[in-house]
Amino acid sequence: MANSEFGYVRNFEQRDALPPSNWIVVRIDGRGFTKLCKKYDFEKPNDFRALKLMNDAAVEVLRSFVDVVIAYGQSDEYSFVFYESTTLFERRAAKLATSIATAFTAEYCMQWPNHFPDKPLTRPFPTFDGRCVCYPKRKVLRDYLSWRQADCHINNLYNTTFWSLVLKGGLTATEAEQELKGTVSSDKNELLFSRFGINYNKEPQIYRKGTVVHRSQEPSSCTTGGTNGSMEAIKMPIPVSKTQLEKERKRKQKATIVVENVDIIGDAFWETHPDILA
Ligand code: ATP
Ligand code: ATP
Ligand code: MG
Ligand code: MG
Ligand code: MG
Ligand code: MG
Ligand code: MG
Repeated sequence: MANSEFGYVRNFEQRDALPPSNWIVVRIDGRGFTKLCKKYDFEKPNDFRALKLMNDAAVEVLRSFVDVVIAYGQSDEYSFVFYESTTLFERRAAKLATSIATAFTAEYCMQWPNHFPDKPLTRPFPTFDGRCVCYPKRKVLRDYLSWRQADCHINNLYNTTFWSLVLKGGLTATEAEQELKGTVSSDKNELLFSRFGINYNKEPQIYRKGTVVHRSQEPSSCTTGGTNGSMEAIKMPIPVSKTQLEKERKRKQKATIVVENVDIIGDAFWETHPDILA
């Protein structure tokens, strides 16, 4: 880079490289989607098209960021998990978060017409914020993903009951809110069934579980690195040739991307896909 007398200002930049051997999660979330839902008349409690659009955008993000091993999405948010030894952008937090959030935003806006052909986008266009969080152990990462899926479940049960009371029961929003105050899950299940004949467990999985996106085969030897140290297997990047890296990148780019609406809190999913967090 060219040097000049002004170059010293570079020293004012904050270093933000994330610590090694941590899983990095970039969570993006739609800005002001409460308003956006109203503007484009999203169906309540769940607009299927909007969820599909989120998922389509996430698939493209996975396709272009091969270091993402799995993503989980619900509502207006998506979490992208980078494998623990990734060296992408030297693990710089701002670069990772902004690159993912802007890639997602571009996909969301460009694919909007596929899902809402009758509702052209107008300003202010949808945008997504993004943040990075590090999780030092596989167990903590799994707890993170479980936390997001539990959040999906809790919100969806509440919203399904709330909107049934409003749209089918004829209550005002305030009345519905009042009715749900202090209720627990079983109360809501019971209310849905007895008043509206809705068996909550038969509601579509995409609403109840959110969406998991991953590559059908993940990952192979070279970019995840070997283990170092004997106490615990710590994944550090190991030096590999450029051609090897390029080959691996191409392999991942070609891999089939799987989109599922399944439970990721229990062990079953992870036992079926031991390679994802390998
Ligand atoms: P912020 O900018 O702080 O994120 P927000 O208005 O986006 O503000 P969130 O907490 O992210 O607040 O909530 C997103 C809102 O969008 C929720 O009310 C959620 O129900 C709604 N929403 C998101 N996706 C859908 C969908 N597919 N169908 C119906 N509503 C949705
Ligand atoms: P990174 O992802 O690390 O930013 P990069 O390829 O974007 O990689 P930059 O240092 O940002 O690297 O350089 C941007 C490149 O794009 C430069 O080579 C610059 O000359 C070129 N470029 C940007 N804008 C224009 C333009 N309007 N016309 C011609 N070339 C441009
Ligand atoms: Mg530049
Ligand atoms: Mg939001
Ligand atoms: Mg949100
Ligand atoms: Mg650039
Ligand atoms: Mg996989």
